[in-house]
Amino acid sequence: MKTLYIVVPCYNEQEVLRETTNRLTKKLKSMIESGIVSGDSRIMYVDDGSRDMTWEIICHLHDENPYVTGIKLSRNKGHQNALLAGLMTAKNYCDFTISMDADLQDDIEILPEFVEKYLSGCDIVYGVRKKRDTDSFFKRTTAQGFYSFMKLLGVDVVYNHADYRLMSRRALETLSEYREVNLFLRGIVPLLGYKSDIVYYDRSERFAGESKYPLKKMLAFALDGITSFSIKPMRIISFLGALVSIFSIVGLIYAFVSYLLGAVKGWTAIIASIWLLGGIQMLCLGVIGEYIGKIYSEVKARPRYTIDKILHK
Ligand code: UDP
Ligand code: MG
Repeated sequence: MKTLYIVVPCYNEQEVLRETTNRLTKKLKSMIESGIVSGDSRIMYVDDGSRDMTWEIICHLHDENPYVTGIKLSRNKGHQNALLAGLMTAKNYCDFTISMDADLQDDIEILPEFVEKYLSGCDIVYGVRKKRDTDSFFKRTTAQGFYSFMKLLGVDVVYNHADYRLMSRRALETLSEYREVNLFLRGIVPLLGYKSDIVYYDRSERFAGESKYPLKKMLAFALDGITSFSIKPMRIISFLGALVSIFSIVGLIYAFVSYLLGAVKGWTAIIASIWLLGGIQMLCLGVIGEYIGKIYSEVKARPRYTIDKILHK
């Protein structure tokens, strides 16, 4: 029988951990009893440098509940890195992992469906949200805009799939060969290849605590996703540069003709073009800078996470 590890990154999740553990343990036990996963299956919490009682609670849960294991990162590294730390640790113990958030917004009732697809030969199974009616209007539109933009840029992401996914050990081994520091798992996982499938679910609201993804983090994450997988923004800049150059030649001819005709006009045109071109240039420098910054952090290749403690029996 195959061993499952459920990997759950946690950042300041003291309000939800106990309830999450109760529900997950119940589900895991029922899956073990019905014989679809082995009795060695576990829940693996990754404490992403929380500032509250998260780690103490994980330690406590580990003592009283044989299914709970945990790792503690040396400091806060962000959701993607915490998830990677959990997956890379779990792959040493299990045959496959399922990753999910600590707030159980992802419906755990479909866990057996994930396992079924795995047992029928899939290496990767994506959990995809049926609809986004539990999100605020703002989050819904920005998220959809993001997916469409990624598609436009030619990046292969699964629409409405976050990080609720099953991965086999083989897929995890392949993932470990991707050494990029700017981690955007949703973009990398489809690159692995392997047979994959989708299960659909309804996403509910966070049952306690508040979101650990404020707008600033979300924007940074989206930007990371775009610049890690596409160099199209740079192409667009080159194109824009060419376009502006052509226009300026036309403008030059116009100015020259008006000069010959003796007209003293054009102050407005000069000021307008200075501001416009200045703006465009700054924007373009910014985009190029984004990529250079990315190269900088990739070249340094600092470790993506450091594990401080592991709780595993
Ligand atoms: N998370 C993390 N590190 C961070 C921020 C978030 O490990 O720096 C975890 C968090 O504990 C949760 C998951 O990532 O398990 C998703 O976060 P959240 O539910 O707050 O995001 P939302 O669902 O609001 O997008
Ligand atoms: Mg959440």
